[in-house]
Amino acid sequence: MKRRGLLLVVCGPSGVGKGTICKALADKNAEIFLSVSVTTRKPRNAEVDGVSYHFKTEEEFKEMIRHDELFEWAVYCNNYYGTPKKYIMEMLQRGQDVVLEIDVQGALKVKEHFSEGVFIFVLPPSMEELKKRIEGRGTETKESIVERLKRAGQELKLTDAFQYIIVNDELDHSVKTLEAIIIAEKCRSERNQEIIKGVLENDISVH
Ligand code: ADP
Ligand code: 5GP
Repeated sequence: MKRRGLLLVVCGPSGVGKGTICKALADKNAEIFLSVSVTTRKPRNAEVDGVSYHFKTEEEFKEMIRHDELFEWAVYCNNYYGTPKKYIMEMLQRGQDVVLEIDVQGALKVKEHFSEGVFIFVLPPSMEELKKRIEGRGTETKESIVERLKRAGQELKLTDAFQYIIVNDELDHSVKTLEAIIIAEKCRSERNQEIIKGVLENDISVH
């Protein structure tokens, strides 16, 4: 019997390296599906519509909210971000593991109605390093960097809501840690009830 996929919710401050870790994970593991979010934020230089994000107008985004097409959504630094519902549900049903790389508000909403998700927070080795990474990425204005660092301070206060913490110091190690979390989560007894039942039904012991 095919098991339902795992829903992995990866959070952490902007610039900590979530996207880099998740992409490396998906490149190594064909069964991992990275959800593509919808946003009203303007595309950055190298971002492709439908790959990095589905870029929408505010009106289009609100229409998706009205039609209940989003699994969760949030406002982050004056822009809307959301996870399209239909596709991820189909993927999970097919047994694929789905990664949502979303902000803390969104993660808390997911936790309320999808508690079987796996909630992971990525920490920077230090705030200095976080600032260096956001600046080094070269995608934000000075204003946006200040806003994102302020937001990071607020998000770091909410780490207790997460089951796992990954300190993204060395990239390879972070990816391996994430893989280890996935393996351990798949071994949880509550995720293996059908398998246990199947083995018991085929009991060949002599009575
Ligand atoms: P996020 O998705 O969390 O906003 P990104 O994945 O875009 O962050 O990473 C921000 C910047 O930090 C990128 O330039 C990326 O190459 C760099 N980066 C990511 N992980 C590491 C790491 N472990 N060590 C050093 N730099 C990193
Ligand atoms: P960025 O503008 O740097 O791509 O993303 C800003 C923040 O929005 C990041 O914390 C990112 O994880 C978050 N984000 C991206 N997609 C979604 C989404 O679908 N829902 C929510 N709640 N946050 C998202």
